[in-house]
Amino acid sequence: MLPVDQAESIILNLVQPLDTQRDVEKVDLLSASGRILATPVTSKLDFPHWDNSAMDGYAVKFTDVKNCSPENPIPLAIIEEIPAGYQPQSHIQTGQTARIFTGAVMPLGADTVVMQEVTQRKDNNVLILESPKNQQEFVRYRGSFYTAGTPLLSPGIILGASEIAVLAALQCPKITVYRRPRVGILSTGNELVTPDQPLQPGQLVDSNQYALAVAVAQTGAEIIRLGIVPDEREILKKTIAGAITTTDFLLSTGGVSVGDYDYIEDILTELGAEIHIHSVAVKPGKPLTVAKFSDTQCVYFGLPGNPVSALVSFWRFVQPALKKLAGVQEAAWRPEFVTARSLQDLHSNGKRETYLWGQLNLGSNGYEFQLAGGSHNSGNLINLAGSTGLAVVPLNETLIAIGESVKVLKIS
Ligand code: AMP
Ligand code: MG
Repeated sequence: MLPVDQAESIILNLVQPLDTQRDVEKVDLLSASGRILATPVTSKLDFPHWDNSAMDGYAVKFTDVKNCSPENPIPLAIIEEIPAGYQPQSHIQTGQTARIFTGAVMPLGADTVVMQEVTQRKDNNVLILESPKNQQEFVRYRGSFYTAGTPLLSPGIILGASEIAVLAALQCPKITVYRRPRVGILSTGNELVTPDQPLQPGQLVDSNQYALAVAVAQTGAEIIRLGIVPDEREILKKTIAGAITTTDFLLSTGGVSVGDYDYIEDILTELGAEIHIHSVAVKPGKPLTVAKFSDTQCVYFGLPGNPVSALVSFWRFVQPALKKLAGVQEAAWRPEFVTARSLQDLHSNGKRETYLWGQLNLGSNGYEFQLAGGSHNSGNLINLAGSTGLAVVPLNETLIAIGESVKVLKIS
């Protein structure tokens, strides 16, 4: 039985990010939502593109208005009106101004904008009642945010609303992103049926297929659902052999314990995979098979069959590896642990690193962990619903007492 951190580093070393040349595709702006940028994006434009006004008001020469006040207003002649999107025609001279609106291009000769709230308009003249605080007030100068040639987005970021807005503003209609990792999911067990089949005595619904499909999809990967495979060696072998050529990761649940029908490791060895992990000192989830096929590069995760064990093993071991494969930056694929105050006693037998599920909430004094009610049995799927964190009782420790600090893995 490997300690959790050793198992984690073996897995993360087996998996390398997708290739920046071979494993990329070009997608439209809107299809890039949620995808991972594969190449650096550099601006060809200055931001702002033009010197423009940050206010509705009057474009002036600072020297004309630097000494005015409500008692000593300064009159200026309005020689042009400049709405947004319009190229100014005038050149402001001393004693002159242009009416200007937010986002409109500054006219030549003006260096400052006076907001309209401190002015009084009279026909084609305006009285400036207050001096600007400084020259260039309310002017957004060309290139003052970013100049052309500045790298703006780095590879490995997940493209959301603000990143896609940047790409749109940069006039990038096609974005180079990593392809989606392909993940095969299969459930083993003669007892399993699909949710729409009536239950016969001894049968159980294959909930793992659904849990993993959703968990995998949440990472942005493409799912290949391989369904329920009976505990029959040849069928299982054929299914695995077929799937390893088309998937980056292949996940199975069940069949990795030491029961008479647990064939997975034998089959993987027969198919030429190298088995790197057999079991991990973790609860729930002790049986965990991790193997790699050298010819196809597919990594196989044989997860335990118990529904809670399957999901906890996914969150702790598979999800970070899958995100790393997908090309996201390291800060985004590392599991996210926080320190919380436990609201209950947390028990373990001390023999395995123990993960207890419950709710992680942000209280007025930081995070608090509320253990889920009901049985903490690895077969009890029900109270896992609504959980947002897994509290960790380390190896060789048997109790984290109420009020003490506990490390909690955020789950989503
Ligand atoms: P196994 O690892 O195959 O011995 O399975 C361990 C336990 O998990 C057994 O009680 C199985 O019935 C249950 N189990 C296995 N696969 C699934 C599945 N896909 N969905 C729900 N429960 C499962
Ligand atoms: Mg089984």
